[in-house]
Amino acid sequence: MRIGLVGIGAIARKQHLPAIAGEAGVTLVAAASRNATLPHVPTFPSITKMLAEGPELDAVILCAPPHVRTPMAHEAIRAGKHVFLEKPPGQTISEVLALQAAARDKGVTLFATWHSRYAPAVEAFRSAMANHPPRSVDVIWKEDVRVYHPGQEWIWQAGGYGVFDPGINAVSILTHALPRPFFAVSGTLFVPQNAVQPMRAELKFTDSAGLPIACTFDFDHPDPPTWTMIVKTDGPTLTLTRGGEKLERDGETVVDAKEQEYPHLYARFADLCARGASDVDLQPLIHVADAWLLAERQPIAPFSEDTPPKG
Ligand code: NAP
Repeated sequence: MRIGLVGIGAIARKQHLPAIAGEAGVTLVAAASRNATLPHVPTFPSITKMLAEGPELDAVILCAPPHVRTPMAHEAIRAGKHVFLEKPPGQTISEVLALQAAARDKGVTLFATWHSRYAPAVEAFRSAMANHPPRSVDVIWKEDVRVYHPGQEWIWQAGGYGVFDPGINAVSILTHALPRPFFAVSGTLFVPQNAVQPMRAELKFTDSAGLPIACTFDFDHPDPPTWTMIVKTDGPTLTLTRGGEKLERDGETVVDAKEQEYPHLYARFADLCARGASDVDLQPLIHVADAWLLAERQPIAPFSEDTPPKG
């Protein structure tokens, strides 16, 4: 599969380029970037130029942020290319529904990725809860935005998600792993006075059986990050840590492995394209939208990258 990569930022360099290099049957033949060039790969200043003037492509990988990604995805679909969307798949739900319809009409694959679902301990976490019904779920997803998103102005603006950028990774694991659908009941979003998006979120969810699910998402947490879920069940306590790399049952390690999320995503994308299928799960995005519908907003002090995290 001949692919073109769009937006050479943090995630493109850290994950996509190595994953593409390691995936048999996938070849990077072009890139589009406003600022960067890649050695040995023709790079164009925009996706429009890449599609019009570049080498023949089968698929386009979109690594630009959500607030600018949808028009790019439509361009690629109109040109008959399969599309791989970084998470979150768009800035709104209806935007992604429209993309889904466009991909279906054109007969191309649309893959809305949720990389955290491919973390090594997630499947074991899911099957443990299938065997032992959860009684309570606590999600603590905290990191320092200055470390993981330095200089990313877009993350604070409309469509940028703020702390939901990492928080939606946790939600993507929960929506995959919990035995029943769940829904938001209340919450508070702590929004810096100079931002549109929240720095912190305290959210409560539940499900049809009354399962209490508490989530704390925090962007103002000193390094190292905490990406943890603690689930009390009718049997063992399950502790998922390091964003899904490690699972313990009553303190005993069940899985502990280095993540290989992006190689799995590329293998899945190649398979979807080969089968003419798409994979677009809106559920994590729906939960974030619901949180915005239900939660109270609390203004907090303006954010500055120069101020150390509060913790
Ligand atoms: P980033 O470092 O800011 O890079 C995004 C790239 O997109 C930029 O370098 C730029 O590439 C392009 N871009 C930015 N603003 C643009 C605009 N207004 N118009 C056109 N292109 C623009 O962001 P990132 O961390 O890579 O995140 C990108 C996406 O990946 C987000 O949706 C994020 O949630 C997801 N993601 C990030 C991580 C992570 O750890 N960083 C992990 C998983 C997923 P050019 O300069 O090449 O044009």
